[in-house]
Amino acid sequence: MALRKIRELGDDCLRQVCRPVTEVTQRTLDLIEDMFETMYEAQGVGLAAPQVGVRKRIVVIDVTGEDPILLINPEIVELSGEQTGMEGCLSVPGKSGQVTRANYAKVKAFDQNLEPIEVEGTELLARALQHEIDHLDGKMYVDIVEGNLVSNEPDEDEE
Ligand code: ZN
Repeated sequence: MALRKIRELGDDCLRQVCRPVTEVTQRTLDLIEDMFETMYEAQGVGLAAPQVGVRKRIVVIDVTGEDPILLINPEIVELSGEQTGMEGCLSVPGKSGQVTRANYAKVKAFDQNLEPIEVEGTELLARALQHEIDHLDGKMYVDIVEGNLVSNEPDEDEE
């Protein structure tokens, strides 16, 4: 296992449409392990392959710290409701912004054996599913943020 370098906003790889996974090789399994390790190390709740420079439709998510979810070739099949809240991204370090998304999301995907799976969630999990799957099509939350990005660091000027 190894930590991978997280690409930041401005990197071309974040703006590409990623390719579907057609076979899971040892290299794919290594990538998936590295993605989980990189996400936990960065204290994120989700990470998409293009964020570590790989243009493949692979996403890892864990919104509780003990519920790892792997999604290969994920597709959103149902969205409903609405939630508005602050959102951040490991590729936009130190910033967050207000984003409105569906409050419920249902996703079809494949596991590491390429067996079909279904994942559904509300609130933070629904937000993470939508955010990470957007990455696979080169979309980022900064494109749909309402108002300005804010800095997560305390602003010294205000003290
Ligand atoms: Zn992100």
